[in-house]
Amino acid sequence: MPKHYVAVTYDLCKHNDFCVDMNEYILDASVDMEKQVRKFAEKDVASLVKVYESDTNDIEELKKFWELKMYKEYTFSEYECGCEQ
Ligand SMILES: [Zn+2]
Repeated sequence: MPKHYVAVTYDLCKHNDFCVDMNEYILDASVDMEKQVRKFAEKDVASLVKVYESDTNDIEELKKFWELKMYKEYTFSEYECGCEQ
């Protein structure tokens, strides 16, 4: 069975200690992973994007079963919240 990859964007605040998942995106295996992840981070203004391995590329199926294995984590300091200042 081919592996699929799903990126989840997170709204993260280290200072108020919360981390909320925002959106899920199925990654296109033929496109560079980091490029796609960077685009999703920009769109959602997410400082944290986690990529998970999934057995399905059907987003509805995925939400029903949510059986994901952690694959890789990307952080984007440029999208961090500014609530420290
Ligand atoms: Zn914050």
